[in-house]
Amino acid sequence: MSRLENNITHLIRPEIQALSAYAIPDPGELVKLDAMENPYAWPEKLINEWLDILRNVSVNRYPDPNANALKTRLRTSMDIPQDMELMLGNGSDEIIQIIMMALNPGQVVLSPAPSFVMYNMIATFAGLKYVGVPITDDFELDMDAMTRAIQEHRPAVIFIAYPNNPTGNLFKRKDILEILNISDGLVVIDEAYHAFADDTFMAELNQFENLLIMRTVSKMGLAGLRLGFLAGHEKWLCEFNKIRLPYNINVLTQISAEFALNHHALFSEQTGRICHDRAKLLEELNKLQGLTVFPSNANFILLRTAAGESTRIFESLKSKGILIKNMGVTEGLLRDCLRVTVGTPEENRRFLAALSAII
Ligand SMILES: *Cc1c(COP(=O)(O)O)cnc(C)c1O
Repeated sequence: MSRLENNITHLIRPEIQALSAYAIPDPGELVKLDAMENPYAWPEKLINEWLDILRNVSVNRYPDPNANALKTRLRTSMDIPQDMELMLGNGSDEIIQIIMMALNPGQVVLSPAPSFVMYNMIATFAGLKYVGVPITDDFELDMDAMTRAIQEHRPAVIFIAYPNNPTGNLFKRKDILEILNISDGLVVIDEAYHAFADDTFMAELNQFENLLIMRTVSKMGLAGLRLGFLAGHEKWLCEFNKIRLPYNINVLTQISAEFALNHHALFSEQTGRICHDRAKLLEELNKLQGLTVFPSNANFILLRTAAGESTRIFESLKSKGILIKNMGVTEGLLRDCLRVTVGTPEENRRFLAALSAII
């Protein structure tokens, strides 16, 4: 072993060495239906107004460390209860990281599984133990298993994606309320797909001191800005805020997000269109033989192919210029599954045409 390799082996934690870096494929010229992005650009007029504002930004100065103007804007756009505190993150990924860094090493992070992969990954980065509790075959919370796991592991924090990624469904409200009632630890409801879901636990913040609501502007149409937020009890957020790096939301993101949220109607119109096209895509997919298509409350759809077919179909789609996500490499509930983001009507048509020629 070389000296360099020897150093790496000794200095890097074994659980980090055992990981592989999160691979994000280079889309090149492909139709990009893999990452739950909003496919619509802004109208020319809006881009010009935005650029006029950016012209006056002082990039030589540090940004407002508390992003107060943006927070005020978020409070009204996102219906944050008056008496709740807000903390912003460089994407909600950073918020997950901040929450986990605040916990005692070795404590347990729990989530239903399968769910958003970052809960597990960041728990590992932060030296925590991750417990995934399998959901049922129809993608609901397995409340017997959840109750047992909560009693056994006493998780410091439970993450629940609502709607869940990658299954796309909203878990039953009564099950989540039950989890809130029986948990001593924190419960973070991750509402990344709120814009497509028509439901929220925001109003429950006043009822449960251990509840936190996390959202992001990524999926509604601002993925490039990297902005997420956490809403909850001031006493919790005061602790997390100590870990947040002082200037984590850069000045361009602060100004651009505030500007975009001042034009909230445009984003509501776009996300409304995506919901409409989701229904059409579901209907067309359901006409294809050999696929199980799962309903969705998000801007993506999960499909199950015939046994052992997901990788072939994924690769064939790619060779026809369409990039989706292959989930079928894992065993269990996601076996043989593919996940496709709802695109523009033209992108959806191209995806459907390619898919029906392949299966
Ligand atoms: C995409 C996603 C996020 C991460 O969003 P960013 O704000 O872009 O970091 C968080 N949670 C879930 C469930 C997601 O699907």
